[in-house]
Amino acid sequence: MVGFSGYLENEKTRGIVMPFSERVKLEAKQKAGFRCCICYKLFVEVHHITPESEDGANTIENAAPLCASCHDLFGGNPEKRKQIRQMWDYWWEFIDQWRSNLMNAGDLDSLTPIQENPDNINQLKEKAIVIYHNVFKNEGFEASVQIVFDLVKEAQKKSPNQKRVLYLDIEGHRNSKRGFDHDMFELQRHFILGF
Ligand SMILES: [Zn+2]
Repeated sequence: MVGFSGYLENEKTRGIVMPFSERVKLEAKQKAGFRCCICYKLFVEVHHITPESEDGANTIENAAPLCASCHDLFGGNPEKRKQIRQMWDYWWEFIDQWRSNLMNAGDLDSLTPIQENPDNINQLKEKAIVIYHNVFKNEGFEASVQIVFDLVKEAQKKSPNQKRVLYLDIEGHRNSKRGFDHDMFELQRHFILGF
């Protein structure tokens, strides 16, 4: 009879939004060291990466620990799910490693304390920082590199790790085939690879 009523129970709850069990919630929090898997802030809630309304599982893999502000910023955005999952995977492993270091540490001073990392939030932001530089006709490679490098440094200081877009307006600097001359070819190659 018990099995039968259990079956009925399942039929009734099908299609209804199911929360995580307390056990899964606690497990997720413990695995995260009770920190948000994006910014590493303490005090977290457990968030469905794939929402329950889209048949997201109530399992630990789908249970990302997020602080209130990261939850507000990214929780509802389907395009961020993959990144949140990757960050959760990374953080899970990090804490695991950190714990085993703790177990094996001869002295506590050798342990690096875990720090909040609000810069990680910028990584998930949609908006990119636009860096613009106008290269003058007589500007050489070295001068251009220095200027763009300073702009990138400034942007990194103001908004660490946020997406960046670089626009270059290049005056002159053409070769005989109307393409870019060597300096400007190098400049673009230099910064396209990552800035
Ligand atoms: Zn957070």
